[in-house]
Amino acid sequence: MRAVTFLGPDRLEWREVADPVLASDGEAIVRPLAVATCDLDDVIVLGGSPFQPPFVLGHECVAEVVEVGDGVRGVTPGDRVVVPFQINCGVCAACLAGRTGNCLTVPLMSTYGFGFGAQGTRWGGFLADLIHVPYADAMLIPVPAGLASETAAGASDNLTDGFRAVGPYLAERPGAPVLVVGGAGPGSIGLYAAAQAKALRSERVLYIDHDVRRRGIAESYGVETLDHIPDRLDSRFPITVDSSNEARGLTLALESMGRDGVCTSTSIYFDPAVRPAFPLLSMYTMNSTFVTGRIHARRDAPRLLELLASGRFDPAPVTTRVVSFADAIEALLGHEYTKLVFTP
Ligand SMILES: [Zn+2]
Ligand SMILES: [Zn+2]
Repeated sequence: MRAVTFLGPDRLEWREVADPVLASDGEAIVRPLAVATCDLDDVIVLGGSPFQPPFVLGHECVAEVVEVGDGVRGVTPGDRVVVPFQINCGVCAACLAGRTGNCLTVPLMSTYGFGFGAQGTRWGGFLADLIHVPYADAMLIPVPAGLASETAAGASDNLTDGFRAVGPYLAERPGAPVLVVGGAGPGSIGLYAAAQAKALRSERVLYIDHDVRRRGIAESYGVETLDHIPDRLDSRFPITVDSSNEARGLTLALESMGRDGVCTSTSIYFDPAVRPAFPLLSMYTMNSTFVTGRIHARRDAPRLLELLASGRFDPAPVTTRVVSFADAIEALLGHEYTKLVFTP
């Protein structure tokens, strides 16, 4: 089969790789129907990630089940499924507790998941003709009928990342105002967080981004926007999100929390020299909570799918283009996108 292989900064190639073969009775082989870019893919292609080439790119998709092992009960060939980007077994203590992003059965770096090469996993990436999925019953999530594959592809990672930053907290505090500091890379996660907060009926969503095109997308969802990261904001927010990948953006998100506020940073600060100022006294006084880390994709994706299926939130305005597999490399190397969705 063929797969889009990352060979180094701005070097991508369709390469022949071995067809996947079921190696145990709990596995599945699936065929991608719609593959989406993760914000991190652009960083990888530009050569800005620590993941060493060569490896097959892509870790967000909806796929069709092609073949299952004898022990698989949850899905059958023909089913449409979301494939979470992380590998998780479903039966260890962490998986049973819902911390699926830290499955204890697989090496820590496997929980970065598909599409990250040997450091991440031996399971390959999604921009390929076929995908080999271990622990099929634990991992694969059926797509609700009527939900387009292109719409749900980002549920593997970025859509769910946006959800986890706002959804659970708005459920606890209905209507609470939300601040999102966006602006990093392609920038889909911050937009998803802001748009979902609006769909989940936050009474005020403020989205900060220097990029006029992304601000336009946020405004199309009815979100209020600001074009720069200010030193401080006049209001405080119970729920804040840092998707800025900027020290100042994170500090603003921390400083802007209200009483019992929670700030989630979805940014990955690869450079250890980035040392954001932590306003610890303000955070102590406000009883603040700071959350960062990889999502628990398998745990949280079903709630995101429910929101998509309800029709209250449509991610389509964030998608820059739907591109055929044949044009995938050209589109990725153009770097001009917030979100690309590839179809075979
Ligand atoms: Zn990702
Ligand atoms: Zn596990």
